[in-house]
Amino acid sequence: MGKIIIEYLEGQKIYACKKCNVHVTNQDYLISKQFTGQSGTAFLFDKGVNYLTGIPEDKKLRTGLHTTQDIMCIKCQTYLGWKYLRAYEQSEKYKEGKIILEKLYLTKIKWN
Ligand SMILES: [Zn+2]
Repeated sequence: MGKIIIEYLEGQKIYACKKCNVHVTNQDYLISKQFTGQSGTAFLFDKGVNYLTGIPEDKKLRTGLHTTQDIMCIKCQTYLGWKYLRAYEQSEKYKEGKIILEKLYLTKIKWN
């Protein structure tokens, strides 16, 4: 395996991989907490860092057909959520390019 380059986010209120503490995103990028993932509560973020993406797949979700790819931590490769590549319903287009992270796999850093 090649060398992994890990980015460190500046500032407060960082969400990190629960297993290895690699920074993934920040409260500033949070769009919604009203999402549900495989494990329960999930959050929609504008963007993140330090993740790997899987093969694009078409998935029929409650809100219609979407093309998504799984997101894994760049360091420990734990599944964290998914990225929306394409939404087919006009009302869901705002999700394109954005990421879902499941609460169960996240930990909070510098929230005090
Ligand atoms: Zn990790």
